[in-house]
Amino acid sequence: MTQTLVSPELVDRLAQAIGARLYPHSIAQDQDVVYAMVNVDAERYLAIFVPEGVGAPTEFEGESTQVEDEGTWTLLRCPRTPANINALRARFEWLRPVPLGTQTSFGFGDRIGLATSGHVQSARGAGVAPIFTQQSVRENTRIGRTPQQVMDDATWGVFQEGWRLPWGADADHVKVVESLPDFVAAGYTFYTIDPSDHVDNDAESDDVVTLRKKVAALPLDQLSITATELADLYAGQTVNLGDKSLVFSQEKMLRAAAKYGRAIAHARTVASALTAQMGGRPFELEFSVDETDTPTSPHEHYYIAAELHRLNIPVVSLAPRFVGKFEKGIDYIGDLDEFSAALAWDIAIMKHFGDYKISVHTGSDKFSIYPIVAHAAQGRVHVKTAGTSYLEALRVIAAEDVAFFREILDFSRDHFEKDRKSYYLSCDASKVHPANSYSDAELVDLLNQVDSRQVLHVTFGSVLDHYGDRLKTFLRNHEAAYEAVLVTHFGKHLAPLAA
Ligand SMILES: [Zn+2]
Repeated sequence: MTQTLVSPELVDRLAQAIGARLYPHSIAQDQDVVYAMVNVDAERYLAIFVPEGVGAPTEFEGESTQVEDEGTWTLLRCPRTPANINALRARFEWLRPVPLGTQTSFGFGDRIGLATSGHVQSARGAGVAPIFTQQSVRENTRIGRTPQQVMDDATWGVFQEGWRLPWGADADHVKVVESLPDFVAAGYTFYTIDPSDHVDNDAESDDVVTLRKKVAALPLDQLSITATELADLYAGQTVNLGDKSLVFSQEKMLRAAAKYGRAIAHARTVASALTAQMGGRPFELEFSVDETDTPTSPHEHYYIAAELHRLNIPVVSLAPRFVGKFEKGIDYIGDLDEFSAALAWDIAIMKHFGDYKISVHTGSDKFSIYPIVAHAAQGRVHVKTAGTSYLEALRVIAAEDVAFFREILDFSRDHFEKDRKSYYLSCDASKVHPANSYSDAELVDLLNQVDSRQVLHVTFGSVLDHYGDRLKTFLRNHEAAYEAVLVTHFGKHLAPLAA
């Protein structure tokens, strides 16, 4: 089938003829029909340009007009509806997320739904595989967005910026089987199983008698093993990890099994439900215990990875709970040498198994550890971020509409105590004062300070609830400024990770 390539200049003129501004990266041609994103009065549309004598695609909904330029064109101006993005996704393969494997990858969560174009610009040429759709069940609940809406918003952004390389979609922190169907239906490809409700944190300090009782009481049927077999499998083993070796005493084995045995059983339940629901479509799994109280020791990491292998639950990434503090929106808190030494164990174990990467959750703004992680993991790391893109939106508001930012700040202060629950934070909210006590310049600087960043970060749900429409209108009107701050911000994340 031959097709004549329509020049970008002609597409641009056709867009202008209907009073629209073209997003030049979005141009995609199928047969003789051109598809592109355009902007009319700060509202974005899919524009479809159909030359004379060619049948217009019928699956899109929109208004049609005729334009004369090098022949007669029918222009369809299609709103950003679920039906239209679905039709576009069916037509262009690159609008559908895919599994990314163990290469270095980066999750760009977007709580507002307007950050993906900036994320794509950040990822372009950065040398990491992007996950543009990523939202946890908790955040979806908090904001009232569905997995499909999150997918659609991100996909429009992918189209707008013309990202043609593989990208992924992360159903983040799935805790129960009941959460799966909506993600499966929306085409997610990366499923983060979070079994932390089944992690026994007390096992960290239990005595051996208690540990033995706890292991005997594990759901051993679900784990397809007896307590004796489990002990034989690990206790007394020495695992050679290159320049390190892991010695499994009876106690180490019991502690690992008591702490994580139920979590493994639960992961198996979720993974098998997911496998059935995906019906042969490709997907990848992450096992994440980052949101637990105590760090994952080397023995525990090994036990988790070995059990997942034994039970044939292939994971592409594993998120241990690291030492130190990984808090929202700020740098790593802890001793870097200690982190580095503990990470060396995680990486040695990861390399021993050889088929997954290490995942760093709450990974935004952890500038002091990126070089350490990149050096140790040697290309086998995944980093997740989400709320930091919301903070960057606030940065634009603080710079461009300071009165609005003052309202948001006061609102966030009022809602902080309620909203902080379920987050690990060490900020001192009393250091964040009413907006009227700051000058305009000081307000912008609040986005660079730990206490105010966290207060603003964890109240996003309440803010979006109250100010969502106004905030989205603002961002639509300041699209380029928002993209610019995202590119700067993520450039600082991606450069050390890709190095
Ligand atoms: Zn997490």
